[in-house]
Amino acid sequence: MTMNYLSTRNKDLRLSASQAIAKGLAPDGGLLTPAVLPRLPASSLETMKEMSYQQRVVYIMNSFLEGFAASELTSYAAEAYGGGKFSHEDIAPVRKLDDGTYCLELWHGPTCAFKDMALQILPHLLTASLDKNDEKKTVCILVATSGDTGKAALEGFRNVDRTRILVFYPKDGVSDIQELQMVTQEGGNVGVSAVLGNFDDAQSGVKKLFADEALAAELAERGYFLSSANSINWGRVLPQIVYYASAYCDMLKSGAISKGQPINVCVPTGNFGNILAANYAKVMGIPINRLICASNQNNVLTDFINTGTYDRNRAFYNTISPSMDILISSNLERMLFELSGRDDKLVREYMSQLAEYGSYRVDSSIRTKLKKEFSAGSCDDVQTKAMIAKMWNEREYLIDPHTAVAFHVLEEYRKETGDDTVTVVVSTASPFKFCSSVLTALGVKEQRAGVDILDQLSETTGIPTPAPLARLKKCRRRFDSVVDKDAMETCVLEMLR
Ligand SMILES: *Cc1c(COP(=O)(O)O)cnc(C)c1O
Repeated sequence: MTMNYLSTRNKDLRLSASQAIAKGLAPDGGLLTPAVLPRLPASSLETMKEMSYQQRVVYIMNSFLEGFAASELTSYAAEAYGGGKFSHEDIAPVRKLDDGTYCLELWHGPTCAFKDMALQILPHLLTASLDKNDEKKTVCILVATSGDTGKAALEGFRNVDRTRILVFYPKDGVSDIQELQMVTQEGGNVGVSAVLGNFDDAQSGVKKLFADEALAAELAERGYFLSSANSINWGRVLPQIVYYASAYCDMLKSGAISKGQPINVCVPTGNFGNILAANYAKVMGIPINRLICASNQNNVLTDFINTGTYDRNRAFYNTISPSMDILISSNLERMLFELSGRDDKLVREYMSQLAEYGSYRVDSSIRTKLKKEFSAGSCDDVQTKAMIAKMWNEREYLIDPHTAVAFHVLEEYRKETGDDTVTVVVSTASPFKFCSSVLTALGVKEQRAGVDILDQLSETTGIPTPAPLARLKKCRRRFDSVVDKDAMETCVLEMLR
């Protein structure tokens, strides 16, 4: 077996691709990363240009996944992105706004958020990895969610053989639409429960379950083991590289850019997974110039990129772009690994400072490289809403709050630098997932309750509600469990009887 994944905290560790995906995290707490980043051959963009999205998935992923046959990957890509699961035939379409500005829409999947891009294919990669490692037990994925991830994971794992999935969400921590999306989830292998408390209660409850050895033993007896679908799993980062390559090919094909012409990308960022994938695409040979990192009021990454000091000791804000409300961006560790010239000792040192003091300062060589690759900016809720209104009024383009953060940061970046490189703004959620904030931005003060707000946004804008959200009206509530955080274990044991 080829051993080609290492830990960002220990370069001597070697795992196969299937082990890396099955384990998720290195035993030393580091992130599993390819020992060598493959480079695309010079002709590859011409080749990929003529391919479907599914074919591009196989083309890109194949070079990272030794031990997986192209035929296997072809069938996973077909199951994940084919069969009408995405409402747009391009899967990740690029929309032109003007000659210099394009928008990569990553929300045409079954849950209307960009998490679908990875969570539709991860279950296939994961079950195949378990087979390759001779794991006979059924995997049970446990998720604590503040919204988007839980639904995308449920939909991705729905009815996938030899998997179970159980999602816990905070009773008072998700929107009405998000809750409805989860409690109406279909599939024979899924479970959903609310937890009394906030997101931290749900998350610490799940962490406790993972650490509970007696529970693990009892589940093993029943033929199960627990795993997570966390965004640091390599199986979630890899599928995200594909859409950057795909966007570039689509733009070549449409004549938006010419062969070899560099583009910038501007990414609304939380855990740093999406923009990290853009960096890997660049390393592989996609002509990407600057990576523009957009944050909301939780601007820890903006400060880091601009000053070289990462400091999580600061106020936490609940914003209208909740999927970016984050103070520790876990996937940044992989970026530090690359920027330091793959210095595992240094990464270990920074991460232990982060754990101990909540902050670290990178050395001058990393600061220089960081500035060379990245630009960063942030924006508050008032500016976010203003951008939603501006895009709608000036271009009749309706965007969600996360995407609006990126457009705001791009506008500021262009004002400051005068850089007129063609730029792809990454759009991470359908505006219909955040109806209330979007309507408020458009000046609509009286808003309808529950699912009726979907119709209201649709009537206000003339844009049809995406089918997976429109369907919520007719869906049956399947799950009504609300548990105390101490009762989560009972919940797991009942589901895995
Ligand atoms: C998860 C998420 C993000 C942040 O992506 P990262 O990969 O964590 O940086 C941005 N927007 C939306 C809508 C998301 O769901």
